[in-house]
Amino acid sequence: MLLRHTPKEVMDRHAVTINPAKTCQPIGAMYAALGIHGCLPHSHGSQGCCAYHRSALTRHYKEPVSASTSSFTEGASVFGGQSNLLQAIENIFTIYDPEVIAVHTTCLSETIGDDIKQIRDKASKQGLIPEGKHVIYCSTPSYVGSHVTGFSNMCKGMTELSESTGRKNGKVNVLPGWVEPSDMEEIKRLAGLMNVPITLFPDTSGILNGPLTGEYHMFPEGGVTVRELIGAGDAIGTLALGEWCSADAARHLDTKCKVPCKVLDIPFGLAATDRFIDTLRTVAGTSVPDDINRERGQLVDMMSDTAQYYYHKKVALCGDPDQLISMVEFLVSIDMWPVHIVTGTPGKKFEKRIKELTAGIPCEVNVRAAGDMFLLHQWIKNEPVDLLISNTYGKYIARDEDIPFLRFGFPILDRVGHQYFPNVGYKGGLRLLERILGLLLDRKDRDDPETTFELTL
Ligand code: SF4
Repeated sequence: MLLRHTPKEVMDRHAVTINPAKTCQPIGAMYAALGIHGCLPHSHGSQGCCAYHRSALTRHYKEPVSASTSSFTEGASVFGGQSNLLQAIENIFTIYDPEVIAVHTTCLSETIGDDIKQIRDKASKQGLIPEGKHVIYCSTPSYVGSHVTGFSNMCKGMTELSESTGRKNGKVNVLPGWVEPSDMEEIKRLAGLMNVPITLFPDTSGILNGPLTGEYHMFPEGGVTVRELIGAGDAIGTLALGEWCSADAARHLDTKCKVPCKVLDIPFGLAATDRFIDTLRTVAGTSVPDDINRERGQLVDMMSDTAQYYYHKKVALCGDPDQLISMVEFLVSIDMWPVHIVTGTPGKKFEKRIKELTAGIPCEVNVRAAGDMFLLHQWIKNEPVDLLISNTYGKYIARDEDIPFLRFGFPILDRVGHQYFPNVGYKGGLRLLERILGLLLDRKDRDDPETTFELTL
C-alpha cells in the first residue's frame, strides 16, 4: 500500500500537484534533438538539469544519451549565461564536431531572460559556428507546459533550417510526434511500402534503439540529416501527427515555406492508422498496396476474434495528450470503456476531444488536462476499473488497487521492448491488442474458480 494515504474524496485543488503526470520541457527538447543525425543537444542551464534530462532518457531507452551543458554557476545565474554559451559553442564544435548543436533553455536561463537567438547570432558573427554547421534553439521553460511542449518547441526549431527554393522535391514531410524509435521505424516502413518518399523528423530510430556492435559512435547512423531538414521546405506536403507535439512545427513550415500541412492523430489503432494511410496516399497521389491491406485485415481479424474479452471493460489512462487521444479512440472501437483519463499537459482542447470520443459510453467519463496521478487514483477508488494504462509511475496505483497494468507512454523505466516493437500502424495495433488481451486473460485465469478455468480462448 505505497499510496495508502490517497483519500477517496476528491477535493478542488489548484495550488499543488501530487504525483505529476508529466515531466519537464527540456526532456522533450532533448529527445527531439536526438532525432537529428550528428546533433548534440545542449542544455543552457545548470549541470543538474542536464544530468537529470539525460538520465531520464537513458532510463527509458536503455541507451547512452550525450548532451552538453552551459554549466551555470552563481555568476551566470545572476548575470546571464551568454559567455557560457559562446564558450560552449566554440568548445563543442572544436572537440565533438557535431553537424548541429540544438540548444534548449531551462527554468534558470529562462528566468534570467537569456536571449538565445541573439547569442546564437553573436556566435555566428564571431565565427564560432564553422561553415556548413548549424546551431538551432528553442525556449523550454519548465514552469509552463510539459515534456510534450518541449518536444514540440524543438521540432519547430528544426524547421528554421528549412528553405524553399520554389521547386518541389516530391517528398512528404512526416512529423511523427513523441513516439518510440520503433514507431518511427514503422512509419518509414509503411511509407516505403507505399512508395512515398518521406522526410521524417525527428527520427530517433537507429539512435535510441541501435544494435550493440562493440564500437562506440558519438553520433550513430540514424536521424534526419541537415540536408533533409533544409529540403523539408520544398516538400509537397506535411503530415503532423499529434496536435500537441507536431502541429506547431508543421504550421510554422507552412507559413515559412508554403508547404501545406495536415494535422492528424498519432496512428495508434485501426481508425487513426486508416486516416494516416489514406492521407499519405492522397497527398502523395499513390495507392495503398496489398501488403498494407493485408496487415489491416489481420488487425480487424484479431479485433473480431477477441472482441468478447474487451467488451465493456473499464479502463483508466494517464499519459500524453496525443497518445491518449488515439488510444482512447482505439479502446472505444473495441468496446472498452475509458472512464478516467488524465494528462499532465495543459490544453482544454484535450478534454473536449476525449468527451467527443467517449460520448457513446453510457457511464460518467472523467477527463482532466493538467491533472495528476493522485486525482486519477482518487477517481479509480470511486469507480474501479479493469485495466490501467500509464507510464511506469502507474504501477503504484495498479499495485494498491490490484488492477492489470499496461505500461504505455513515457517514461517506462522498469521494462524493455518499447524501443524495438512499434505501437503505431496496423502491426502496432496487433501488438497493443495482444498485450491488452494477455493482461485481461491473465487476470481472468488468476481469479476464475476451477469450474470456469479454461484451457482455450
Ligand atoms: S529546474 Fe526546470 S529545467 Fe531543470 S530539471 Fe527542474 S524543472 Fe527541469
